[in-house]
Amino acid sequence: MLQLKNISKSYTTGDFTQVALDKVSLNLRENEFVAILGPSGSGKTTCLNIIGGLDQYDSGDLIINGKSTQNFQDSDWDAYRNNSVGFIFQSYNLIAHLSIMDNVELGMTLSGVPAAEKRHKAKEVLEKVGLKDHLHKKPNQLSGGQMQRVAIARALANDPDIILADEPTGALDTQTSEQIMELIKEIAKDKLVVMVTHNPELARKYTDRTVEFRDGKIISDTDPLPDQKVSSDYKLKKTAMGFSTALKLSFKNIMTKKWRTTLTAFASSIGIIGIALILALSNGFNKQINNYEAGALSNFPVSISQSAMSFDRSETAADDAATSKEEYSDSQEIYPYDPSANTIMHTNVLTEKYLDFVKQIDPALIDGISYARKVNMNILKSDGKTATAINTSYFSSFPSKAGGAPGSYLENYYDLLAGSFPSKDTDLVLIVDEYNQLNVASVEALGLDYTADSIGFDDIVGQEFKLIPNDLYYVKSGDHFVVNGTAANLSDMYNSTDAIPLRIAGIIRAQKDSPMSTMAAGIAYSDDLALRFITSAQASKVVKAQEQEDTINLLTGDVFPKTSAQTEMMPGAPMMPGGAGSNTAPVKEDVLAALGATSIPASISIYPKDFDSKEAIVEYLDKWNEDLPESDMIVYTDMAAIVTGLTGGIMNAITLVLIAFASISLVVSMIMIAIITYISVLERTKEIGVLRALGARKKDITRVFNAETFIIGAFSGVLAIGITYLLTIPANIIIKSLTDLSNVAQLNPLHALLLILINVVLTMLGGFIPAKLAAKKNPVTALRSE
Ligand code: ADP
Ligand code: MG
Repeated sequence: MLQLKNISKSYTTGDFTQVALDKVSLNLRENEFVAILGPSGSGKTTCLNIIGGLDQYDSGDLIINGKSTQNFQDSDWDAYRNNSVGFIFQSYNLIAHLSIMDNVELGMTLSGVPAAEKRHKAKEVLEKVGLKDHLHKKPNQLSGGQMQRVAIARALANDPDIILADEPTGALDTQTSEQIMELIKEIAKDKLVVMVTHNPELARKYTDRTVEFRDGKIISDTDPLPDQKVSSDYKLKKTAMGFSTALKLSFKNIMTKKWRTTLTAFASSIGIIGIALILALSNGFNKQINNYEAGALSNFPVSISQSAMSFDRSETAADDAATSKEEYSDSQEIYPYDPSANTIMHTNVLTEKYLDFVKQIDPALIDGISYARKVNMNILKSDGKTATAINTSYFSSFPSKAGGAPGSYLENYYDLLAGSFPSKDTDLVLIVDEYNQLNVASVEALGLDYTADSIGFDDIVGQEFKLIPNDLYYVKSGDHFVVNGTAANLSDMYNSTDAIPLRIAGIIRAQKDSPMSTMAAGIAYSDDLALRFITSAQASKVVKAQEQEDTINLLTGDVFPKTSAQTEMMPGAPMMPGGAGSNTAPVKEDVLAALGATSIPASISIYPKDFDSKEAIVEYLDKWNEDLPESDMIVYTDMAAIVTGLTGGIMNAITLVLIAFASISLVVSMIMIAIITYISVLERTKEIGVLRALGARKKDITRVFNAETFIIGAFSGVLAIGITYLLTIPANIIIKSLTDLSNVAQLNPLHALLLILINVVLTMLGGFIPAKLAAKKNPVTALRSE
């Protein structure tokens, strides 16, 4: 039971206001077939749309089953259209890209009827309108009469109380019109049907009641219904479209324009392809760098040096000064300045305690530790008859690990060419370079024939030397000490039981793929040997005597220079020839160190196992400096970090710049998507009207278009990632041929996923405004559009 009470409605276009309905009052029975007649423009459609809740009245009231609609919200109207009203239009208004079944099911879909029930109901109504053989056709495969039957089926599907038909036969021939009228009359048996028509004959023949309109007013009514009291128990089931319904609708729509969608998706994928490729490359290069770091750079030791280090502050300070001074000035003056004012000096004072601290580094983190010492070991070589002293300046100590086998570090990074790796502290190794070369000075130091073109391994491996304790090597001569150096004495020393026999255990060479060889070619000994020598040297007479003597070098008789040798470390220190600052003569500490008086090394090099271990080592070393004043800190040098910081920083910068460029194409594709979506909104205006007539909320309309952009975004994102994965193949071939690095371009799957996500979000953002515009469309105007 519907009551229109003094309903007025006018449309304003520009300055002109058209009154479409002028205080119309009309009572409609629950079950009757009403025809609305009247000339064109008399307000028939407007009246119908207001009854159907598609359009809203300006004043008056529409009372549905005794309930006033004056306070209806949008959602109430949506629910009313969905539950209670079925529309039939002159131009059918079927959704072209949906099948007959889907068209009929749409209203039920909106009110959340379960799929099976929906199917059953749709079949039932389609059968009723005589279309059971056409369920899976598309609307454009049907005749006009058949399309109108579909529209009738759709109107009936949700079992509404009211059917509103606006000139349903207006586009049909007479015979078909009759058939459709029969069908509607059949429906009208148990419903309220209000039908607008031009044709008074049809109205008379089929309907129960005729209401005539003219100029927005009712001028006649063949069977008016007086006002009645109606109890108000009117309830509506709210509608809601799920995102999956929206997706399905949009997917079917997109399938009707495959090419356009594919091209759009491809165009909008280009930005993502760019970014994905850049990420793949930078990811690959970073991996290569990391590999290189784990290999080459991890071999860079963390080193701690006892000597003074100078930090040049001039970079900042001199810049400041430079601002006050002019470059290439014409002034006739000079400007004295003190370069050391810009230098911060730091001396690492290594102590036994610190050495213990270093020794306690977790052995699992290190390959080895090597110590550089200034000790001059007394080593003799004998050809069987005469012994000669060896120049040990080409000797160095190789890294080793506490608790590990003496040669364990070497075994990791060096190939054994002959003999064996050192197994005792008295085992020496000969290191040769990649060409098996050895500096002639080293060859000579070994007492071998340095003029020979080549020397067989056999002549070297197993060679013996003797390490001579200080007390045997140096003898007191007056106030001084001298090497007990005549040939006979050297032979005696060589044969003494106190001499420690040394032996070249093997010849080794840095491994081919070893990123760098940490030791120069020459002879290497274990640090244990050095410490063994130092322990005996510390108790030797020459060391004891030199420790007592502050001014005279007991080996040469020279007076020690007064200035600390550290002066030489200061850049730009004045070089005064022969003066106090001269660094030619050794100071007392140097002499003592050379004699083996100190077990403190000049520098320590810690070789990390890998890159992570290095981080852990550095963290461990930092602990020492906690709570120490700056001057007491032990500063280490981490070359790998310096190199990595440099390369990593450059890579990141390049990546960022490239991504910024690629992002421009993302913005372009966003704008493109906005345009495409807007076009789609224009194209689907009619569909919007139909959906609204079927009870879709504004929100649902937004959802339909968001679903469309979601599909395009996801499709183009997946497309982009697919293309990128394909592109990495030729990219890698090109890079391989250019740089010999293989598999550089590698797209991280996580990045791929993120990019698809970003693309979906950006595409949806692009389509957001058009989708909102679509939702705002007035359903009446939307339905009128062609
Ligand atoms: P009928 O269906 O009887 O031909 P309508 O109800 O469609 O008439 O229209 C009634 C009057 O209102 C007409 O003068 C028409 O031009 C005007 N009208 C209808 N809808 C609109 C609208 N959306 N904007 C402006 N004028 C409108
Ligand atoms: Mg009309």
